[in-house]
Amino acid sequence: MKKIKDIIQMALPSSKIQNDIQIKYNQCGTLRPINISELSLTISMKKKVLDIRQQHDKINIIRDNQKLTLIIPYRNREEHLKEFLPALQNRLNEQNIDYEILIAEQNDTKPFNRAKLLNIATLYSNPESKYFVFHDVDAMPTLLDYRYCNQTVKLFNYINRCKEYEKYPQTVFGGVTLVPKKIFTDINGFSNNYWQWGKEDDDFLLRHILKGHMPLYDTSGKINMLPHPRALLSDSQGNVSTKKSILKNNEKLSQRNKKIFSMFKRGLLNQDDDGINSITDYTISSISAKNHIKTIKIKFDKSL
Ligand code: UDP
Ligand code: MN
Repeated sequence: MKKIKDIIQMALPSSKIQNDIQIKYNQCGTLRPINISELSLTISMKKKVLDIRQQHDKINIIRDNQKLTLIIPYRNREEHLKEFLPALQNRLNEQNIDYEILIAEQNDTKPFNRAKLLNIATLYSNPESKYFVFHDVDAMPTLLDYRYCNQTVKLFNYINRCKEYEKYPQTVFGGVTLVPKKIFTDINGFSNNYWQWGKEDDDFLLRHILKGHMPLYDTSGKINMLPHPRALLSDSQGNVSTKKSILKNNEKLSQRNKKIFSMFKRGLLNQDDDGINSITDYTISSISAKNHIKTIKIKFDKSL
């Protein structure tokens, strides 16, 4: 019976929210609530999301100094890491942030799983830190404010890929995201189910919204993207490959990710069943530390 209902749910059309509510918030520097009018949902999910937002239509934004755990998802991007780490540490020191850096390194040849790596690394964070910043290794910090915030914040608004800064869509939620530990626990972290490339960041945004959180974005935040070949061209070790079979397999995984996200968007998957409370099938190969930087090597025992 449930199956038929699910099939009908998957077939229902979705469209943009458009009429998002007006959120009340205190001015706090350059932070603003993310506008989700562009999110595409089915009629029943739209109603659910707007009901939740109406019940939580006020945000009280507080920023101050707290201990930070910054986590970098990583495999085989040595050139980027070499350029990124000193720039990052300079910024953190300039801003007097009390930080630790965890590199969550995937140490196997299975498809990459950014979100699961991040989930696992949070388990190794200093219990005294109050917030996470999840930071891609290719997002060079041009202008990023790393101070604690009691709300989740996408830390950038502009991105420079070649020569000029361009505005980035508010609801694209990857790259550099600040999340208070309390909120991370409340939304059950990331989903563990997205392999290789795509959609885990959209899922992460929706997890916030469905639990009544109102993520913000920093309207003046800027990053410089280090160039790399299209993610879909990476083989299982993260090396670029022009083999058709690799591209085909990556596209298959990417389609699978789209399908999982579509099921979540339609209310067919529950975030309480998949997240930091359900991380399985991994082994920690090693943990090593060197000046504020800890590398956690993680092997996935199983992928799909
Ligand atoms: N990543 C990595 N090795 C990989 C794939 C991804 O280290 O083989 C990490 C890295 O931090 C990267 C992030 O995951 O910045 C996001 O992946 P990618 O840059 O490929 O995706 P994009 O956001 O550029 O589409
Ligand atoms: Mn990238």
